[in-house]
Amino acid sequence: MRALTVIGNWKMNGSLSINQAWMQSVGEGMQCGMPAGRRFGVCVPFPYLHQCSQLLASSQLLLGAQDVSAHESGAYTGEVSAVMLQEMGVRFAIVGHSERRMQYGEANETIALKAGAALDHEITPIICVGETADERNSGRAIEAVRRQVASQVSTLQDRLVDCLIAYEPIWAIGTGKVASAQMAQDMHRAIRLQLAEFDHDVSAHIGIIYGGSVRADNATELFAMPDIDGGLVGGSSLDAQEFLAICRA
Ligand code: PEP
Repeated sequence: MRALTVIGNWKMNGSLSINQAWMQSVGEGMQCGMPAGRRFGVCVPFPYLHQCSQLLASSQLLLGAQDVSAHESGAYTGEVSAVMLQEMGVRFAIVGHSERRMQYGEANETIALKAGAALDHEITPIICVGETADERNSGRAIEAVRRQVASQVSTLQDRLVDCLIAYEPIWAIGTGKVASAQMAQDMHRAIRLQLAEFDHDVSAHIGIIYGGSVRADNATELFAMPDIDGGLVGGSSLDAQEFLAICRA
């Protein structure tokens, strides 16, 4: 869905007391008025889902997880299923973040299965795609991202319309190097055109958000681009006031 969406990704950060203070500040900030028709969420580490679901009970901020298992239940030590997340009130789950692709060897096929499992339980998967610095510098950025998107299309088909795609150039994640608004727009456009080759409805209605060093001082320009439907915000989401400023953008 193309409602403007801003999602925080805390990564492996937080503590019971830090989370409490963050939720209180963001909750109070949001009560002072947020633009209408927008969606806001935060993806927290698994152990904090229960605490955060309680803290968010009367908030417009939606709860998210940072991963989800492709499996329903059974002998999958360390995994967390979509049905468990749903029970915790989770509305979004990041899948295929580049940190998981690179450090845990997650492949496109597994990522699509994870997205499918999330959809089965009314959780919106945030499917991350993006190119490395090498691919960008050698003119292969679009080709690299196309490959990742094509794999999602072939498994998820028209269920893709209920997902969010997060374009996250790997060289921009946690580096402070943000893609220029035009560079991000060009890739979002390329993804939308690729999806239109498959299905015009999916292409017209899917939300494509940008991630990679989004801050309060660059969010307005990025989010104003016609094919950018919001942001996935890592480091800057840890600071409640910075996150609120990005949501207001
Ligand atoms: C992310 O982790 O998804 C991300 C975009 O990180 P950062 O905003 O810190 O670059």
